[in-house]
Amino acid sequence: MTTSPPGKPTRSKGSPYDIAVIGAGPGGYVAAIRAAQMGAKVLVIEKGELGGTCLNRGCIPTKAFLSDVKPFYKIKKASLYRGKEHLSLDMEKLVTRKNEVVETMTKGIATLFSDNGVQWVRGIGSFMDSKTIGVIRDGKRETYRASNIIIATGSRAANIPGVSIDGGNVLSSDEILNVRKIPREMVIIGGGVIGLEFATLFNALGTQVTIVEMLPTILSTEDDEVIRGLHTILEREGITILTGTRVIGASSKGGKVEVQVQEKSGGKARIVAEKVLVAVGRTPHTEGLGLERISVKMEGPFIAVNPRMQTNVDGVYAIGDVIGKIMLAHAASAEGVVAVKNIMEESREIDYGKIPTAVYTFPEIASVGLKEKEARDSGLDIRVGKFPYLYSGKAMAMDEPEGFVKIIAERELGEILGVHILGENAADLIGGCVLAMSLEASVEDLSEAVKAHPTLSETIMEAALDWRRMSIHQPPKKDPPQ
Ligand code: NAD
Repeated sequence: MTTSPPGKPTRSKGSPYDIAVIGAGPGGYVAAIRAAQMGAKVLVIEKGELGGTCLNRGCIPTKAFLSDVKPFYKIKKASLYRGKEHLSLDMEKLVTRKNEVVETMTKGIATLFSDNGVQWVRGIGSFMDSKTIGVIRDGKRETYRASNIIIATGSRAANIPGVSIDGGNVLSSDEILNVRKIPREMVIIGGGVIGLEFATLFNALGTQVTIVEMLPTILSTEDDEVIRGLHTILEREGITILTGTRVIGASSKGGKVEVQVQEKSGGKARIVAEKVLVAVGRTPHTEGLGLERISVKMEGPFIAVNPRMQTNVDGVYAIGDVIGKIMLAHAASAEGVVAVKNIMEESREIDYGKIPTAVYTFPEIASVGLKEKEARDSGLDIRVGKFPYLYSGKAMAMDEPEGFVKIIAERELGEILGVHILGENAADLIGGCVLAMSLEASVEDLSEAVKAHPTLSETIMEAALDWRRMSIHQPPKKDPPQ
């Protein structure tokens, strides 16, 4: 990362705002607040609710659901509890609590805007020229001028030919958040992040879930060992996973949906279910923005940017799902901060190698940096340290023995290249690993930093120790200590 002293952007003549941000998702609202903290005069334009997909229809509502459903699932599974036949979950209350969480958080952003002096208008924004945004509001157009503009318009659920999302039985990840009756069966098209999180949720609620994924594996962006581990766990928990199987159509019949698939062998088959969730990726929101009016360069459907988040148009930046680098809320926020720092003349480039991923299955997955195959394929001399949750006192006490921590580090100097976790609380645990990598700590440093006992964070220390072949709480390995 390169830095230079911070400054103030030069406000163009006739521009009342230093920065206008289109879109108030985790990319846009974080950028706006950071810019205001740094002394810029900021305007945000948002057509919907503050918080974007993450807060209103993504990360936060799904986590509210998953955290409410997890104790229900654990109790149903454990032999410890009696009277389980009477246990049921109030779907109405589940949805109501989710809505309350979303509402509280959305109001929180409005408060943060006002506390930081960020102004915002509700309306649909589009470029009139590279310094002027037209905002359609209640059928009328208002124009706003700003010296710099950040496009943070996000994405929407994508679809595939032959399938029409009707909001009834065929749903996207938006509509499924308001399902108030537990479906008997559900086909999930796409074994990516969204597909797996909803598969976890509905399986825990008692739905018979089938995931149909056209690639050879689910969650193909993660480390192979993690994918295999998760696949085994999900199948054991009762989820049917059809990989190498492409959905080619879906049609509603007698209150159910018939999903047509093409199998690995080339043969065709049908799966009938009460509900179908389409989770096949996301399409960036670029239409209607007037990008052609200012000749913004595109990269396929995404806006092209450099590592400073600058588009080809002077003073116009883009961040988040609309640039399609890493479609994650925290990546969008990080990109937003980079854009603002460059506008405020504090030169900064994004470092995608240190942006973690987190998937909220039971158990969770989290990772940062290189996968083992990636590291080996790029010719790096690496060594892998691992620690199974099974050997962790805390994991056993929590009755969460599934999973492992895997650390990939360069053989000679112990530079940490990647960390992959499959296991309880993986998404929280990865934070410490990101910090270690950001501070360029070696795997030895990671192994010597004392962790509280008993905690799951010890699994990271033990995996780092295992890299040195000095793990205390697992059987010794044959290859010698580092
Ligand atoms: P994705 O790209 O992660 O997965 C979509 C999957 O659908 C792919 O594996 C693809 O091969 C498969 N697919 C596409 N067409 C198909 C067909 N015809 N038949 C069968 N399978 C098909 O997309 P997603 O799961 O929709 O998630 C969208 C974005 O949202 C992702 O970028 C994701 O990272 C982000 N997201 C992140 C989180 C999180 O970080 N926890 C949670 C939800 C969403």
